Amino acid sequence: MNISFSDRLAKVKPSPTLVMTKAAIELKACGHDVISLAAGEPDFDTPEPICRAACEAIARGETRYTSVDGTHRLKCAVAHKFKRDNGLSFSAEQITIGAGGKQVIANALLATLSAGDEVIIPAPYWVSYPDIVLMGEGVPVIIETKAESGFKMRPADLLASLTPRTKWLILNSPSNPTGAVYSRSELRDLADVLIAHPHVMILSDDMYETILFDGATFATMAQAAPELSDRILTINGVSKTYNMTGWRIGYGAGPVSLIEKILVIQSQLSGNPCSVSQAAAVEALEGSQDFLAVQRAAYQERRDLVVAAINRMDGLVCFKPQGAFYAFVDCAGLIGAQTPEGRILPSDEDIALYLLEKGGVAVVHGAAFGCSPSLRLAFAASKEVLHEACARIGKAVAALRLP
Ligand code: PLP
Repeated sequence: MNISFSDRLAKVKPSPTLVMTKAAIELKACGHDVISLAAGEPDFDTPEPICRAACEAIARGETRYTSVDGTHRLKCAVAHKFKRDNGLSFSAEQITIGAGGKQVIANALLATLSAGDEVIIPAPYWVSYPDIVLMGEGVPVIIETKAESGFKMRPADLLASLTPRTKWLILNSPSNPTGAVYSRSELRDLADVLIAHPHVMILSDDMYETILFDGATFATMAQAAPELSDRILTINGVSKTYNMTGWRIGYGAGPVSLIEKILVIQSQLSGNPCSVSQAAAVEALEGSQDFLAVQRAAYQERRDLVVAAINRMDGLVCFKPQGAFYAFVDCAGLIGAQTPEGRILPSDEDIALYLLEKGGVAVVHGAAFGCSPSLRLAFAASKEVLHEACARIGKAVAALRLP
């Protein structure tokens, strides 16, 4: 049968990071030796006390449906986290729990967007924002940022992109894919622009809050602009901080009216997030946070290794991230290069495929993040693996005849 798919789906593409990860898995399955730096996933294990809390929850019989948008217990743990880490006060009614931050973001956009509503997204962006906006029949308004300005949106750029149809501004700091981190005063400057535009809501995606380098401090919009709190949704989750990508728990905090509508969407699309994962997330948020400093130091060493190695290669320039675990690499110098087999590489996607086929290293091309020509390398791998990956990339790049 020839299935005809929805118009909504016609605009949406599958996540390119998943596409590259799949290509790497397929090559591996055929016996090739592939290092994948494509996935946005910590290589550390979920800490043992968190796993134990999950087992204990099963033993207690916490295996049934919970409240659709999360247990009261987990909402209280989230409220406590916001107080402890960000100085923000939320009641349980202002908090929603979803199956990952991705679900909370999708819920919020689906709950608020009408056809033609605009969502401002600074590029390079996390791959899913524009596609979720499109699924909600909204219009992604992409604002280019440059390495020279630290890949951060300037207030003038924001002002120029506002229209009466603007519904949301999405901010992500530390950023996936660049690792750019907005300071509190930079957020304040953006907030000052938005004060005069009360129809614009702000989605602050704080997923990489705890992964910061060189003593950088974390700031979020609700701290920087408390007077805008009735139009800020702060998103976070346990995936990246606590190495819990597979457990699927994310959360959001914001105005009660929005949280209630998010619940309506979630109740019809999926129901409650996994009960056992919710119990584990309570332990993650309330247990010892000491290991975070150890992880942060490990990520910083890895960052230093990768940035230095890439910047030694002809044709590549690596931005130095201040947070998250991605190296964002300008590969303009390799566009038009010729492979040893005589193939010309016209785009960053071709360069990424060349590195996979020739070097056995999977990375994601910048077009996926709305910024070409570039590449994203996740440095959530051991130093040994990163050494080997950089050596392979270096060898593959050295084999090219540069334009
Ligand atoms: N936001 C950003 C910037 C991300 O990089 C990710 C995951 O890659 C998410 C949100 C969603 O994470 P999760 O759904 O695992 O909580």
